[in-house]
Amino acid sequence: QSKVQLIQRCIRDFPDFPKKGIVFKDICPLLKDPAALTAVIDLFEEHVKKNHKQVDLIIGLDARGFLFGPLLAQRLGVGFVLVRKRGKLPGPTVSVAYALEYGEADAEIQEDAVFPGQKVLLIDDLLATGGTLYATCELIRKLQAEVLGCMVVIELKELHGADKLKPHSVFSLVQY
Ligand code: 5GP
Repeated sequence: QSKVQLIQRCIRDFPDFPKKGIVFKDICPLLKDPAALTAVIDLFEEHVKKNHKQVDLIIGLDARGFLFGPLLAQRLGVGFVLVRKRGKLPGPTVSVAYALEYGEADAEIQEDAVFPGQKVLLIDDLLATGGTLYATCELIRKLQAEVLGCMVVIELKELHGADKLKPHSVFSLVQY
C-alpha cells in the first residue's frame, strides 16, 4: 500500500467534537504508528526537496503543528520555530488576531524568532477555513520574512482554506 493510504488509515472521525455539528479528524493514531508517522515526514521531505531550493526555518502552529514540524526540520537540517496562542511565549512578541473554525484566538511569535528576508515553510496538522495559517502568514509578513508555502497533513477541501491562503501554496497529504 502507498504511504498516503498508510496515513489515511490512521485518521479517524469523531462527530460532534469539540462542538455539535463538527466532525473532528483525530490524528492521534497517526502518532502511535511509527510507519505512518515516518510516511508523513517522508512525503513532506520529498515535497520540500522537490519544490524549494532554500528553506531557512520550519514554522509550526499551536499545537499539532508542533508534533510534525520538528521531525521535518531535523530531516531538512533546519531550525524549528513555534507560533503559539497568546500569552505562552516569553519576551517581546508580535501577534495577530484571527477567527477559528470554532471560536477565535491570537497567534503569537517571538520577535527575534525569524529574521527579515528568511524563507520559511509553515506546518500544521489540518487546514480547515485557513484562518490559523492566514494569521501566521501575517505574522511572518510583519517580521519581513518570506512564506514559501504551507504544509498540512489533512486538508478539508469544502472549506476552501487554500483559496484564502492564495497566493501562498498549500501542500496536503490527505484531502476530504
Ligand atoms: P482553520 O484555521 O484552518 O479553520 O483551522 C485549522 C486549525 O484548527 C488547525 O490548527 C487544526 O489543528 C485545528 N482543527 C480544526 N479542525 C480540526 C479537526 O477536525 N481535526 C484536527 N486534528 N484539527 C482541527
